Amino acid sequence: MSEFDFDLFVIGGGSGGVRAARIAASHGAKVGLAEEYRYGGTCVIRGCVPKKLFVYASKFSEEFEDAEGFGWAVGERSFSWRQLIAAKDKEISRLEGIYRNNLEKTGVECFDSRAEFEDAHTLRLTATGQTITAKHILIATGGSANLDQKIPGIEHAITSNEAFHLEELPETVMVVGGGYIAVEFAGIFNGLGAETHLMYRKDVILNGFDMDLRHAVHEEVAKKGVDILTEDVPAAIAKRPDGRLEVTSQRGKTYVVDQLMYAIGRRPNTEGLGLEKAGVAMKKNGAVVVDTASRTNVEHIFAVGDVTDRVALTPVAIREGHAVADTLFGNNAWIVDHSLIATAVFSQPELGTVGLTQEQALNVTPNLDIYRAKFRPMKHTLTGRDEKMLMKIIVNADNDKVLGVHLMGPDSGELAQTLGICLQMGATKVDFDRTVAVHPTAAEELVTMR
Ligand code: FAD
Ligand code: NDP
Repeated sequence: MSEFDFDLFVIGGGSGGVRAARIAASHGAKVGLAEEYRYGGTCVIRGCVPKKLFVYASKFSEEFEDAEGFGWAVGERSFSWRQLIAAKDKEISRLEGIYRNNLEKTGVECFDSRAEFEDAHTLRLTATGQTITAKHILIATGGSANLDQKIPGIEHAITSNEAFHLEELPETVMVVGGGYIAVEFAGIFNGLGAETHLMYRKDVILNGFDMDLRHAVHEEVAKKGVDILTEDVPAAIAKRPDGRLEVTSQRGKTYVVDQLMYAIGRRPNTEGLGLEKAGVAMKKNGAVVVDTASRTNVEHIFAVGDVTDRVALTPVAIREGHAVADTLFGNNAWIVDHSLIATAVFSQPELGTVGLTQEQALNVTPNLDIYRAKFRPMKHTLTGRDEKMLMKIIVNADNDKVLGVHLMGPDSGELAQTLGICLQMGATKVDFDRTVAVHPTAAEELVTMR
């Protein structure tokens, strides 16, 4: 008999926690998991999945217009926000059920409760007051959206959480931020027909991505009708008697909007978790400090996913959780390689990218060969839509190795996945060149650029 209730106890039933729990249980460990809200976590309940469903919904407005270029007469269109919300909610509940079932099927004992540390081996389930002990503990509590609390009237602003449950589609909306969430939601609101302002504190959206790509997407997002307000942030927010919001910006401009959505980054969920009682070290921003094996400074306590503030993406959290479970219980120690992670921004147009930006690549070598193609996708020769696609390949001229590929345009996210494999395999530009094109596609540019 073990001196502990569980071999592994996981705090958080999101992407990383669920994977770790299921894999550990499949290796024969006795596993418990506590989830304080809904199984599936941010990605399933109020992140990737509902977001992508909204992106699909918002694209139809352009697709109806484009159809006319191909001879279709599209009659009167109308859109029901409530219908979209109901359909999305139904799908999310279905997925949540699958997550829970899968956990139980693998033998994981689930607790619908918040868990907090009492000491390094003991957790308290706040729903019942029950305490449980575990030999190993995994912190997989994710993160939460930030709001700028210094701004007067910030209580009137929403985050992406609330955007998924609005009673109605706002007629006018302002999104604050210039990262993944802000740009994706600006595209969603704009595509669904809301007058959309995107307020960003710097000059070109999507900081951290390749500069060429940033300029291109900034231009295309604006062309689609999003009013991008740069080098500005809200200074004060006031609610008017008619319920609308008056946003005064730092530059002294005033905007009246129905909703103001903040997407200015996320913070790790460690507040009130009792990490100090367990002696687990955190960074200044509350992120749990871990080593390459996701182990904290306390030998038997691990942390994965957004709570560690490494790469805040679902597949990364999943992989980190998997590695911890295999390492502890599968007799197979491995660590996650955080380099060359392909990623997509489901902006409109979409971005897909893997590897180094041109700016980062210059730190590897000053000898770069840059291949770049900007063109109108074939579809738009008939639709007449003024939309460009961009493809950029960054090559180390010293050894021909492809260091990064950056795409903007339809299906760029899908392409990024395959390009991720190529770069993982160490592809050179010659490998790209000797690959026969698939015609007619946009992707053929990747192997025909010289
Ligand atoms: P989470 O999935 O957040 O899970 C943590 C869970 O822990 C939550 O369910 C929470 O309720 C629970 N919890 C917290 N504290 C406790 C506690 N004390 N006790 C019990 N339970 C607790 N990533 C992508 O790769 N692609 C995308 O397209 C994408 N889109 C996104 C869109 C939005 C709007 C957002 C917000 C995020 C998006 N992400 C996307 C990021 C992705 O959702 C996260 O990286 C991922 O969910 C992190 O997984 P996790 O396991 O670390 O945490
Ligand atoms: P990001 O870190 O991507 O972007 C935050 C944005 O807010 C940046 O533009 C930042 O500006 C700006 N900002 C930060 N602080 C302030 C402030 N006080 N006032 C005004 N603006 C501010 O965070 P997100 O919230 O967009 O997303 C969180 C993470 O979730 C992403 O980084 C990503 O890892 C993940 N995610 C992934 C998605 C995907 O895979 N498609 C989709 C959605 C989220 P600056 O540029 O100057 O720093």
